[in-house]
Amino acid sequence: MSKLLLIPGPTPVVPRILSALAEPTVSHVGPEMAAEFGAALEDLKKIVFCAEGQPVLVAGAGTLAMEIALLNVAGRGERVLVVSQGYFGDRMAEISRCFGFETDVLAAPWGRGVPADELAARLDAAPCDVVCATHVDTSTGACAPIEDYAGVLAGRGILCILDGVCATGGLEERMDEWGIDVVLTAAQKCFGVPPGLAIDVFAPRAMAKRRSLPSVPAYYSDILRWLPVMADPAKYFSTPCVNEIRAFREGTRIMLEEGMEARFERHRTIGLAMRAGLRALGFPLFTEPAYLADTESVVRYPDGLDDKAFRAAYARNGVVVAGGLAATAGRVFRVGHMGNLAFDDVVFAFEAMEKALAEIGFKFPAGAGVRAAGEALAPCGPACGVE
Ligand code: PMP
Repeated sequence: MSKLLLIPGPTPVVPRILSALAEPTVSHVGPEMAAEFGAALEDLKKIVFCAEGQPVLVAGAGTLAMEIALLNVAGRGERVLVVSQGYFGDRMAEISRCFGFETDVLAAPWGRGVPADELAARLDAAPCDVVCATHVDTSTGACAPIEDYAGVLAGRGILCILDGVCATGGLEERMDEWGIDVVLTAAQKCFGVPPGLAIDVFAPRAMAKRRSLPSVPAYYSDILRWLPVMADPAKYFSTPCVNEIRAFREGTRIMLEEGMEARFERHRTIGLAMRAGLRALGFPLFTEPAYLADTESVVRYPDGLDDKAFRAAYARNGVVVAGGLAATAGRVFRVGHMGNLAFDDVVFAFEAMEKALAEIGFKFPAGAGVRAAGEALAPCGPACGVE
């Protein structure tokens, strides 16, 4: 029996997307591929609300999307400020240093985000050319106040890159309205598509910046080489992952059929239900209340509950969650609740969790998790969820 994959990515893949993946491989420059690829690019602009955006979709994953974003908007010798609330913000700083940009980091303690006024103060003291922020850092479950950051950046002539790997398509990211210049993400999180794609959307100001740079220190990651393909996917630069792109297009079709506002609402409801169930079982959240994310929960182990024993028992009962990263290893578990998750999946997650806890002899208020999660979901009716 396949298990419910509640790690913070990859997320469960619904049958429609799996079927698209299994279709026979076609020519990467043929008409079927060009139509699906082109449609996926158009859909992406709607998903991040960037009417004149330039999407770039290439084989890879989130880390490549981070490189592509930064390399194409930061010029030689420019100053990059990374706002970090965890492991993946720190990774962006590493990438920035790796390419020789002058790199500064504004970090929050794990479990929190950086408040917007701290960002403003740092920029007043030390201006920069590019700011990178992570929407939800998967290591801590902390969600940054991105709209407030965008307000701080407005009028300063600073480009803003947003890492939406654990957010795009599940949480609002209104590029045009907020003034975000690049959103980067990957297929395996809120899109509910198997891993395999690096995704970037460049707003017009970011494209203008790329065109103003004489060169970038990359070949495959230089978006100017990809532009002819993105304008007409029947053109060749490097062979795209045909089956994955078709699966991705099915993913974006599902998203737009659901509607972005309904999708954000479903993520909000599932986030509430997850947290209600966890609290009812007596599990404290690692993330501070002001920074909770609707796509992921990072949960502290109460005394007497062992990480390995719990996760193994949970998996035996049908659900896979992730352990902690870096310093939190063994102290927390991480539950992804994004993508094409149905309300029934949430109820099943708590039924299985309670069975697992009982199996390993951990004392908890029996039935409380299932009941609290169910109550949080009830006002929305049984129809919510994705086939
Ligand atoms: N950014 C964030 C916020 C992430 O969660 C991850 C992966 N979990 C990455 C970047 C890197 O993505 P990938 O593993 O697809 O390279």
